[in-house]
Amino acid sequence: MSRDYQFETKVLLNKNKDEKGAVSPPIYQTNAFEYETAEELEKVFKGRAQGYNYTRVGNPTNNQFEEKMKELENGIGALGTASGMAAIATAVLGLVEAGDEIIAGNSLFGGTYNFFKKDLKQWGVKCSFVETTELEEYRQAITPKTKLIYLETVGNPKLDIPDIKKLAELAHKHNLPLILDNTLMTPYLFQAKDYGVDIVVHSTSKFINGSSNSIGGVIIDTGNFNWAETDNPLLAEYLKFGPFAYLAKLRQDIFRNLGPVASPFNSFLNNLGVETLPLRMEKHCSNALELANFLQSAVGVERVNYPGLKSSPYHELAAEQFDNHFGGLLTFEVENKEQAFKLINKLELARNLSNLGDLRTLVVHPESTIYHSLSKDEQQQLGVNPALIRVSVGIENPDDIILDFKEALAAL
Ligand SMILES: *Cc1c(COP(=O)(O)O)cnc(C)c1O
Repeated sequence: MSRDYQFETKVLLNKNKDEKGAVSPPIYQTNAFEYETAEELEKVFKGRAQGYNYTRVGNPTNNQFEEKMKELENGIGALGTASGMAAIATAVLGLVEAGDEIIAGNSLFGGTYNFFKKDLKQWGVKCSFVETTELEEYRQAITPKTKLIYLETVGNPKLDIPDIKKLAELAHKHNLPLILDNTLMTPYLFQAKDYGVDIVVHSTSKFINGSSNSIGGVIIDTGNFNWAETDNPLLAEYLKFGPFAYLAKLRQDIFRNLGPVASPFNSFLNNLGVETLPLRMEKHCSNALELANFLQSAVGVERVNYPGLKSSPYHELAAEQFDNHFGGLLTFEVENKEQAFKLINKLELARNLSNLGDLRTLVVHPESTIYHSLSKDEQQQLGVNPALIRVSVGIENPDDIILDFKEALAAL
């Protein structure tokens, strides 16, 4: 793209114009791509000619979505994956081998927490978990074996918010890349590159897709990290690709060999969903703030946690980092687990399911579902307790959302 368009315009642009003029890009729902001659296919395989050969390695529909996400994060390149977890696993496995260490904030998404704690350990990689918002703990956890620092824009369900610029500075002082899971804020609310983040990962299953019709993920290299200066031996043979060393390592090694490729159909749906991301995020944020304000003064509610409320210890940092937007997720506590269940069962509009970032308002009781297998200590660390309810606030009319909670609370 030649002009420097604004975000709301960029979501509507597609990299390649369709040769038949289709405004909505076509789906290349194919496993393989044929060539007239053996010579041509040889060139494609050896990277001497542009082209696709097999969808696990690359596909035009996947590429269309990757290019869009690259533009939206202002990065140098992107890699689409089958799920958010696939993006996280691919991004991390590209940088670690047995004997290495990583550092991560302790209020991570449950799947990521388990992956770092169990699977990485099984493969000989140690994760040091630190208090997400405590810069000093990260500093102390860095050792000569550390290969990366990992965090999330906003913790879930704790809704704690780290100072990302300071963490990026710390990482770079030690020549380490910073990986950020930006699922909860999306590039519309948080431009990670401007804050020093090197690698952005998303579960596109959430706000990016919006309609909850496709599991997917994406990895974006923002171009901030100077790979030429890394001493990570895993990248040595890819340094010839210059700024694309890390993405080349992923594409030619981890991604191709583990096979976490996105379905072209899902990429098509994600590409469609992301076109309305700015409109949706504005509405998620304003509705969440209205609901948080209502809950804060509602009888039967003990505590509301939303970064948009002045009572949140992260309010000021969030206002600065996210330009006075605070996302679509909030949590609140009632008296106990029994009351929490009763309230969820009384809700009519809000759906009881474990997902977030849907157009529709969703509730879940984290302690008995997503976090049921963790110990009490671990649950506490992640900000989970039996009285807690998490709400992913949708884009319905806010009066209808508030009425739903008002009536359910009144029936307790
Ligand atoms: C959902 C989620 C993931 C995992 O994504 P999937 O697409 O479900 O694999 C990772 N990180 C965050 C913050 C999430 O909300």
